[in-house]
Amino acid sequence: MSVLNHAASSAASFTAARAPRPSACPGLLRIVAARDGGICRIKLPGGALSAAQAAAIAEASQRHATGVIEVTNRANLQVRGVRDGQEAALIAALVSAGLGPAPASGGVDAATWSASAVSAADDVRNVMISPAAGRDPFALYDTTSLTAELLALLQSETRFAALSPKFALLLDGGERLARLDHPHDVWLAATQAHDGVRFVFGLAGCPPTAANAAAVHVARASEFATDASRASALAAVLPSQVVQLVRALLHTFLDLAAADATRIRHLLATHSVGAVLQHAQTYVDFPLSRDASLADWQRGAPADAALRLGAHAQRVVGTWHVGGHPPLGRLDAATLHGLAALARQQGNGTMRMTPWQSVLLPDITADAVPAVLAELNALGLACDPAQPITRLIACAGSTGCAKSLADTKADALQLAARLPDGVDVHLSGCPRSCAAAHCAPYTLLAVAPGTYDLYRRDTSADFGECVAHQLTIEQAADMLEQLARSPLDA
Ligand code: SF4
Repeated sequence: MSVLNHAASSAASFTAARAPRPSACPGLLRIVAARDGGICRIKLPGGALSAAQAAAIAEASQRHATGVIEVTNRANLQVRGVRDGQEAALIAALVSAGLGPAPASGGVDAATWSASAVSAADDVRNVMISPAAGRDPFALYDTTSLTAELLALLQSETRFAALSPKFALLLDGGERLARLDHPHDVWLAATQAHDGVRFVFGLAGCPPTAANAAAVHVARASEFATDASRASALAAVLPSQVVQLVRALLHTFLDLAAADATRIRHLLATHSVGAVLQHAQTYVDFPLSRDASLADWQRGAPADAALRLGAHAQRVVGTWHVGGHPPLGRLDAATLHGLAALARQQGNGTMRMTPWQSVLLPDITADAVPAVLAELNALGLACDPAQPITRLIACAGSTGCAKSLADTKADALQLAARLPDGVDVHLSGCPRSCAAAHCAPYTLLAVAPGTYDLYRRDTSADFGECVAHQLTIEQAADMLEQLARSPLDA
């Protein structure tokens, strides 16, 4: 893919956004060319955006692109099909809607922010939280304020511009609606201690849960794990120490990692966890060392992804969050306008994107729930986990990506008609797996137009075990039916 870099809005504070930043990842100011036009990725703080911002994105996508908008697996949005020559105008519209990066108060002055600093600040805005943060009745901690502090930290220290756009943090408040299977460079998870909440943390992985215990075991034994404890919780800190801890870990990564290292896992290939923590200690004023008692720590509450769909009670009695899944994570401008109107009329004027590529409307009153569900259905969003389309993900496919060997989007829609109950499938046009940061239970990897190899998740890396070659979608549906009935999958 070639990378196009474009000027920021003359209407915005950022007046000289022309300097390239070497990355192939789309960003707000770095529109990346694809087969169906440019891709502009809009990072959303905690997946949140206002109805006004949603309407602005919808409007801009129609005016400057083809009107196709995707929810990403990091709870962001991206505009596809940006037209040649329209890039600067699109960026201007999005920045004017308050969707650009922002320096922390007391940090960098926006007026003097350089173009490359703006682009870098945009790139590092990668903190994943539950879409129900602050509302989930089972959460141990409301992570919304901490998230804002972490995002401000990431955007305000000039040195963090050196971090890769893929460098990402997970802040888990213990919600039941939580995505825990995406590996993160640094993860933090709330846990209940006898005298209050602590955040345990780990590097280059996911919070250990009963569900991923096997994968953690493999990671510990893996030849790639240079330190057996890297798949475990390392230590615990107070909530008030989280920002200082993250700052210390980021500086430690930048101090110690090789020049070509982009992720914490690269640092751990050359440095032990103990050495990393010892170095991080120099940046914090509280004791920081591995806590052996946490080696077998697991997240207490099970997560339930089905809570992203339908209506569920929030912590405040009488309020609900209501969610729906756009087919294969794609919205069009009219649908996004419709969601914005719904959030204004029935909710609190905001919405959340989720890392399952779905949409959540918070703060719906009980009497409005039926109308919101009906409207989400009318907009084409699936609200019932029994609907097969909620269990399918697919990358851009051959209509959007030159690397794809098949039209994964169209093939996924064909498969939806025959998908067995309870089976989750990822269709990928090539091994890069853009649509899934996790390993799906089943992966169909394209080998030719309409033809796929089928993989079943096991404890190995990548897609798992290849169980069948060269299947059409009809054959894949038959095979999935057989596998779903087999005792191995019970
Ligand atoms: S997974 Fe491969 S084919 Fe699909 S969008 Fe990514 S690079 Fe393209």
